[in-house]
Amino acid sequence: MTEIRTRFAPSPTGFLHIGGARTALFNYLFARRHGGRFILRIEDSDRERSTDQFTEAILEGLAWLGLDFDEGPFFQSHRSAYYRTQIDKMLGSGSAYWCFCSAEELDGKRKMAQAQGRAGSYDRNCRDLRRTPGEGEAAVIRLRMPLDGSTVVHDLIRGDIVFDNRELDDLVVVRSDGTPTFHLVNVADDIDMGITHILRGEDHITNTPRQIQIFRALGAKPPLYGHMPLIVGKDRARLSKRHGATSVLAYREAGFLPEATLNYLARLGWSHGDQEIFSRAELVSAFDAAAINKSAAAFDMEKFAWVNFEHMKSKSANELTRAVRPYLAERGCGGYDERYLETAAALVRDRAKTLVELADQLAPFVGDTIAYDQAAAEKFLGEADRARLRGLADELDSLVQWNAPAVEREFRAFCEGEGIKLGALAQPARVALTGGTASAGIFEMCAVFGRARTVARLRAACAEAEAGALTFRAPASPQPGR
Ligand code: GLU
Repeated sequence: MTEIRTRFAPSPTGFLHIGGARTALFNYLFARRHGGRFILRIEDSDRERSTDQFTEAILEGLAWLGLDFDEGPFFQSHRSAYYRTQIDKMLGSGSAYWCFCSAEELDGKRKMAQAQGRAGSYDRNCRDLRRTPGEGEAAVIRLRMPLDGSTVVHDLIRGDIVFDNRELDDLVVVRSDGTPTFHLVNVADDIDMGITHILRGEDHITNTPRQIQIFRALGAKPPLYGHMPLIVGKDRARLSKRHGATSVLAYREAGFLPEATLNYLARLGWSHGDQEIFSRAELVSAFDAAAINKSAAAFDMEKFAWVNFEHMKSKSANELTRAVRPYLAERGCGGYDERYLETAAALVRDRAKTLVELADQLAPFVGDTIAYDQAAAEKFLGEADRARLRGLADELDSLVQWNAPAVEREFRAFCEGEGIKLGALAQPARVALTGGTASAGIFEMCAVFGRARTVARLRAACAEAEAGALTFRAPASPQPGR
């Protein structure tokens, strides 16, 4: 059996977006599923629109998702000499020919064809001229399409799609400035790279019969194609910024796990029974191109967030701690003891659906300063509260044992002495220690903080509040898709 070879062939004219990442994933899964190879090709032949910055962003996005390729990246901009050989081959065999029609002439022909309701716009005027351009003479190279019969795309997802060859123009494969067109380089590279299967967006369907003819013109067997459904928003309109961030890396920034992102991308247009949560290994073993849907897939931010939460839940505290470290480092909280972070993460993990939320929850454990919720500080760090919190800090400082029950006993004893309810002390303490009114259990938090941090934080919060020197939280930054 021949080896299965798939590729991802992005044009670096934008960031790696949801649709592109799904294409990469499906080709990756198909290759891995069948023990084949996955190739990365950067289609940067459009030099005006391609940038190194986008190439870097695509590579970074793939690396984040762990979509490792076996060969490449190959760059089309480095491969002109090879394309030249393929063009010569087509001219030599007569499967392509020079066309000398000017832009104005072609425009006239197009209008005429439209007026007559004819398919195609070029009248094949130069098809049988059999001449090459003279010195300085402008000409393009066109493919000699079959004039009748049909081209069948044996689509892996949609079954056979039949195209009438009379609908296919003699398409331009080399422009008058000598540069090969998208169709030519795309096919020439698929031949050279031995690609056997291509999964790509359904927006390419009309290109496929044309490209199949280029394969034939070059004496090569076309690969098998599968055209994947569009990704739409909940309103069924094509996915766009309106529906949330479309760049994959924006989800990293928002604290999504790469494995959850892969899982959710896989479910966009593909299913396996009613299973929703997949590990990478499960995706590889379950992936089947024939199970890709034909109808559009709806991107649903809430579902994605749920998938992320499920993956967060399945991680050990150690794995979560490792995953959240970069988010803590970004806030200037690095270098914490692994065990300490793990214990803190175990305590607060249920309150976080993303790594950003987990970093928020962990911030009081590792930050040197705390950012306060202004309303909470105003409500709970008034003069009377501060007096109590200072008293509490002194008591805690002399506690013999330091663990959650001991801390709780001290809180309760203190309240009794003051003749107040526990909440009247616990809530100000929570605000002083975490910056806000919602957190994990306060005694458990104190236990993890340790005596020094707890006492110092209570005292610092009182001093800062008194001096009007608290740092307040910035309003929450918008989440993708929210
Ligand atoms: N560069 C093309 C794109 O990004 C590749 C199309 C294909 O996969 O053949 O749409």
